[in-house]
Amino acid sequence: MPLFPIFVKLDGRPVLLVGAGPVGEAKIAGLLSAGALVTVVAPTATPGIQTLAEAGTIAWQRREFAPQDLDGVSLVVAAVPKDIARAVYEAARIRSVLVNSVDDPDNCDFYYPAVVNRGDLQIAISTGGHSPALAQRLRIELEQQFGPEYESWIRRLGEARQGLFARDMDPDERKKKLHEMAAAAEGPTSTSGPGLPGAGMVYLVGGGPGDPELLTVKALRILGQADVVLHDDLLTDEILELIPPTARIECVGKRHGERQMTQEEINRRLCRYGAAGQTVVRLKGGDGAIFGRASEEMDALRASDVPFTIVPGVTAASGAAAAARVSLTDRRLGSALVFLTAQRCKGNPPPNWKAVAALGGATAIYMPGGHEGELARQLIEAGLASSTPCFVVAGASRPDEQVVETTLGELPGIQHLPRPALLLIGVLSAKH
Ligand code: SAH
Repeated sequence: MPLFPIFVKLDGRPVLLVGAGPVGEAKIAGLLSAGALVTVVAPTATPGIQTLAEAGTIAWQRREFAPQDLDGVSLVVAAVPKDIARAVYEAARIRSVLVNSVDDPDNCDFYYPAVVNRGDLQIAISTGGHSPALAQRLRIELEQQFGPEYESWIRRLGEARQGLFARDMDPDERKKKLHEMAAAAEGPTSTSGPGLPGAGMVYLVGGGPGDPELLTVKALRILGQADVVLHDDLLTDEILELIPPTARIECVGKRHGERQMTQEEINRRLCRYGAAGQTVVRLKGGDGAIFGRASEEMDALRASDVPFTIVPGVTAASGAAAAARVSLTDRRLGSALVFLTAQRCKGNPPPNWKAVAALGGATAIYMPGGHEGELARQLIEAGLASSTPCFVVAGASRPDEQVVETTLGELPGIQHLPRPALLLIGVLSAKH
């Protein structure tokens, strides 16, 4: 017999739990969050159940189960050995009360499905008891497909729906609008508005240091929805291959063009595509908000009233530390971690090297681009020992990753590594 799927309103309804061990305890939170009035019957109970009973959150009948416990009850959950579960099941059947016996299908009228919970959006999965493992797998897949952003989107859709019903309008037109709202691809992740179609969305996405497996689940999902992707030079082919063939790809870095596109032109494109209702992904290496000009893009998007969402990524310093098998911080060395870039915007003062040296902790230098010798000299002059351990990491997390371990004093003499490369100074290596 196929099962009949339903979602039940338990608010204010009495529910009986027979058995008060850890398995029973695990069932209580779900029942309470649906508003059920929970009574537990069992001679002994876990400390957690005792605490809930003392607080009056649930009632605890401190004795064996008796059939009359089922009088007036809507549902019963049995978390007890099979013989007691059988007695509960038989008594419940006479009274037409539905039973779930945990891990005991023979004594069940209903099963707990695997559930994807996104606030008021709940997706329940049943395999009719054939494969709970498959149900779990499907749950995980659905959780990736329908991210946490659905929670607020469902709420906004509900509000927009109420608004449409409050209006005097043609029912067919209302129906059409309701379907359009639910179909809007950018809806769940839009930060403004009721999820109405027409408003595009620009995602500022960090793509990590290169290994596609270091993309976040969110970045991957959003890439799959993109109409257009604007990426820079740091993105590896393996990541670009994940962009759906239906999306237009624009490389706005130096590698593919003679001239790098100006930041202003990139800003203009982001605003134009977003305003045209497209799902735009601005894909950058690492974390876009670290030496990535993200704030200039955000300013432009704000000025044009184009909604945007930031998706952080794994920054190169984290990728480099993993490649060098070191920790970026170490409480034995200090409490600071400095991210520096060796490139300066015209007019900005040079870093205060003395302050950096005095902080105590590691320094990650982005874009060292051939200035390694000069950087080492400045740091030694500022007070760091020339024996300070130092790593040059090129292509962190990529197949051609290279790690060179040296010291600050010897850094000027080492051979230049291919770009992108990053310097890690003052991290504790395995040798120390
Ligand atoms: N937003 C990026 C950094 C952009 S600046 C992030 O958060 O990682 C560009 C610099 O990042 C490069 O010059 C290099 O120093 C560093 N970088 C980026 N990817 C790298 C990688 N895979 N390995 C080593 N360094 C990398």
